[in-house]
Amino acid sequence: MTSNAFPELPIAVIGAGPVGLAAAAHLLERGRTPLVLESGAQAGAAILEWAHVPLFSPWRYTVDVASRRLLEAEGWMEPDLESIPTGGDLVREYLAPLAAHRGLAPHIRYAARVIGVARRDMDKVRSVGRGRRPLVVRVQSDSGVEDIEVAGVIDASGTWRTPNPVGAGGLPAQGEEGAAHWLAGPLPDVLGRDREAHAGRATLVIGMGHSAANTLLALDELASGSPGTEIVWAIRGRSPRRLYGGAESDELPARGAIGTRLREAVDAGRIRLVTDFSVSRLEPTDDGRLAVHGARDGQVLVVDRLAAATGFRPDLDMLREVRLDLDPALECPRALGPLIDPTVHSCSTVEPHGADLLAHPESEVYVVGMKSYGRAPTFLLATGYEQVRSVVAAMTGDAASAARVDLLLPATGVCCATAGAGGC
Ligand SMILES: Cc1cc2nc3c(=O)[nH]c(=O)nc-3n(C[C@H](O)[C@H](O)[C@H](O)COP(=O)(O)OP(=O)(O)OC[C@H]3O[C@@H](n4cnc5c(N)ncnc54)[C@H](O)[C@@H]3O)c2cc1C
Repeated sequence: MTSNAFPELPIAVIGAGPVGLAAAAHLLERGRTPLVLESGAQAGAAILEWAHVPLFSPWRYTVDVASRRLLEAEGWMEPDLESIPTGGDLVREYLAPLAAHRGLAPHIRYAARVIGVARRDMDKVRSVGRGRRPLVVRVQSDSGVEDIEVAGVIDASGTWRTPNPVGAGGLPAQGEEGAAHWLAGPLPDVLGRDREAHAGRATLVIGMGHSAANTLLALDELASGSPGTEIVWAIRGRSPRRLYGGAESDELPARGAIGTRLREAVDAGRIRLVTDFSVSRLEPTDDGRLAVHGARDGQVLVVDRLAAATGFRPDLDMLREVRLDLDPALECPRALGPLIDPTVHSCSTVEPHGADLLAHPESEVYVVGMKSYGRAPTFLLATGYEQVRSVVAAMTGDAASAARVDLLLPATGVCCATAGAGGC
């Protein structure tokens, strides 16, 4: 059965980020009505919280094909394909005009948070006739809570609002809940909005991803003009080599350059690197600073701010009543897990994948975009756009187009995959 079983009902898209809007554009092209539900006040609400951060992908990889067709029909001028947008540019120059497009705008509701998805009048346990019932999304807005019947659900709600805790074990570190005053979030704007909190002070950055690298490089720039600014970078492993990346071998030069600049700042001693450090406890000091205790005896770093770039996890609560088949570690679709597991495979050359791989036992429910990668960090927009093209084809009954996935992603130039483990 496809969403065509309920042609009169819309297909819900959760989230008006780049992938959600792309899904809506593909639905419109195929003659279906999207209902985009966005918890924020505008499209790209999550990205606006990291508006100051430059992407590593040039525009070439950040615009979806169906969205481009919609925009170009209204005279939109695509930015220079080789230039690199910031998060803010992405929203201003692409997502905002797309969301305002007269074909799409009537189908987007803002300040509408999805809090649940279910099969109409059938809890998760009941099987008989399940596929013959439409789905229901429960939406919370200023006017209260309502249930809306839909033919299918494409969950593109991202992971930005559910960051991992600082605690290395996945649970908050002891004292983490009471340490909000010192926690700067995953990507503080240290050269702009949050400058005062970091200039002339000591900031500890935790993490081994591009978010950590971005914050470290911004702090390095801040330190060059603000005496007394100290930068400490703590990682759980023994070596930062993976984040230093593939340098010139990276097919996205901006991504390669981040690692190269970071290595230079560490080698020059401007960033103090602490390896083998897993946070176990946070404790305020008598002089108003934060003591960050490591799991090993005697490990303690005393700082003014802590930027925990420890990654993100999907919010699965709203999907509790539908039947999902998830990888037990990564919380992504089970079949996708081996392709993106960061402990096996660190580069972004993920095999192209679409509806087949993303399908769950609950028919007509797909998780796409950043959220489809669960806890894996290597998601790229180009992957998400190909996912929704294929998913929308499947939902609208075009099995041949759904099966034809062909996407070549730019490689990082480094992969930690071991031979025979599905790596490069
Ligand atoms: C700092 C940073 C840099 C990145 N750089 C790149 C890059 O260079 N190249 C690249 O390809 N990728 C990059 N990514 C990864 C990824 O492409 C982005 O995270 C992208 O924003 C993911 O798009 P999305 O649509 O899946 O999710 P999001 O952009 O997070 O959009 C999800 C939307 O859903 C809304 N939402 C959340 N919960 C609900 C709910 N319950 N109900 C309704 N709405 C909800 C949110 O408000 C948000 O607007 C980067 C990510 C980060 C964080």
